[in-house]
Amino acid sequence: MRPQLLSLLITAACASFGAQAAGVTDAMLAKDSTTTNDVLSSGIGTEGQRYSPLKQVNTSTIGRLVPAWSFSFGGEKQRGQESQPLIHDGKMFVTGSYSRMWALDAKTGQKLWKYEHRLPDGIVPCCDVVNRGAALYDNLVIFGTLDAQLVALDQKTGEVVWKEKIDEISAGYSYTAAPLIAGGLLLTGVSGGEFGIVGRVEARDPKTGKMVWIRPTVEGHMGYKFDAAGNKTENGVSGTPGKSWPGDLWKTGGASTWMGGTYDQKTGLAYFGTGNPAPWNSHLRKGDNLFSCSTVALDIKTGQIVWNYQNTPNDGWDFDGSNEFVTFDQDGQRMGGKADRNGFFYVNDAKTGKLVNAFPFVKKVTWATGIDLKTGRPNFVPENRPGDPTAGADGKKGSTVFAAPSFLGGKNQQPMAYSPDTKLFYVPANEWGMEIWNEPITYKKGAAYLGAGFTIKTIDDGYIGALRAIDPKSGKIVWEQKNNAPLWGGVLTTGGNLVFWGTPEGFLQAADAKTGKVVWKFQTGSGVVAPPVTWSEGGEQFVAVVSGWGGAVPLWGGDVAKKVNFLEQGGSVWVFKLLGATASAGGSVEANKVAAAAK
Ligand code: CA
Ligand code: CA
Repeated sequence: MRPQLLSLLITAACASFGAQAAGVTDAMLAKDSTTTNDVLSSGIGTEGQRYSPLKQVNTSTIGRLVPAWSFSFGGEKQRGQESQPLIHDGKMFVTGSYSRMWALDAKTGQKLWKYEHRLPDGIVPCCDVVNRGAALYDNLVIFGTLDAQLVALDQKTGEVVWKEKIDEISAGYSYTAAPLIAGGLLLTGVSGGEFGIVGRVEARDPKTGKMVWIRPTVEGHMGYKFDAAGNKTENGVSGTPGKSWPGDLWKTGGASTWMGGTYDQKTGLAYFGTGNPAPWNSHLRKGDNLFSCSTVALDIKTGQIVWNYQNTPNDGWDFDGSNEFVTFDQDGQRMGGKADRNGFFYVNDAKTGKLVNAFPFVKKVTWATGIDLKTGRPNFVPENRPGDPTAGADGKKGSTVFAAPSFLGGKNQQPMAYSPDTKLFYVPANEWGMEIWNEPITYKKGAAYLGAGFTIKTIDDGYIGALRAIDPKSGKIVWEQKNNAPLWGGVLTTGGNLVFWGTPEGFLQAADAKTGKVVWKFQTGSGVVAPPVTWSEGGEQFVAVVSGWGGAVPLWGGDVAKKVNFLEQGGSVWVFKLLGATASAGGSVEANKVAAAAK
């Protein structure tokens, strides 16, 4: 071996070893979307594009994509598995239902350790005992639990390094989202919008869990910042007190940040979607009810709201605007795309929040005829809002309306993907409606705070789910793949011109990103309601997805829940790689090209 080559190899080996020994850094997180040997954040990069440039697995080679290993979450605890695995230093960190986490050898699936959070009686998750994943920072892996706590574990041992309480389960709080690390801060939201909690974003020191700032997402509440000693000082009220809420309803105003957020390096802003204003009965809270059903952009340095765009002002349908805001480049400008539960896809300027485009991504929308691009506001259909109970004969039930989408949404928690190659968003959409009516309600701490009743209804008996490739510029659906059951898992797109997504029927499947032609599918044994990931190690590309049917549909799905009640529960993670791709020092890519050419 030539001396200079040898020294190069030694340098490379040291650099690689050094990076591992130092743990996960801000610099590594900042370029997570382009480093293909790891998946350090939910969203495969904090922007949330869920795009990997990897292309060893592509439309030509995918016929040879086979299981490498599978790992069972075991036990009697199954239910919905909505977690995105993280990959670092040859390890997979994956969370499961009931606030559990495992560290596995990413290559072999061998179990390294397990953490089972001790959950108290009285947890109040609205929509199944799910967890959507963890965050990595330094030598820690951090996740939130159903009893509204944050737990940081040592990546090597699974030992608890720190633990912090977010809030009281007795007041309706819980936690299910993957935490976000941005600019050296741990950013988290809260769940509990159905219990009249107060939505907010919290920033902590990821190494210690100590609070840095709190920003409420309900207008009128005070924000706070904290010094190193933990002393709390006021940091400005969110919005203008009394402006968009009548009376005292803002005090229990909801707007939960239950899906967590995204962060864009170019704008320096973190984007959190907010849920419904509480209660659901909109007649009790005339006004826009800021900052509910919105995208809220936060300056992470100051903890201030820089801009807010409200997707559904004065929501009356539980159209949580909690969906992810995914930033991308369009015509030299930084934009953000959001497929909202209310059935419209929005494109906003990521720096200013200005609405650039809005169009429906589902076929039936009853509550508005469109979004006015000049004012940014929806054109409501007033008669399609559920009626005011106080206007009825007995004052106990308002008029029932049929509304589409249903409150389970044109899209719900299942994250979409964006490909900078095709410039298309891949949206796991659902076509369904609901009968909904309002009832009187008063707030009681820890009790469901809806003031509404509902039944989910099918619209098209042939299918509910549809994976749609959407052009954010034209608003056109370029292709779609329909699915019998509602889609509840996320999407991955790759440089191999592929789109991966799972179905409740149990398949992980892949389509040609340009045409939508399904080119591969594999039965995982239970329903897939989680987003796939991909990474490479030793010259091999791996694809992984968690399998385990559950989530909100079987619990709240009405007629749809009955339609899919044959689906079986589970709890496992599957990992795939190309048959014949060997670990020999990067040679496998070439070998695959030869094999593909020989076909
Ligand atoms: Ca990466
Ligand atoms: Ca809600």
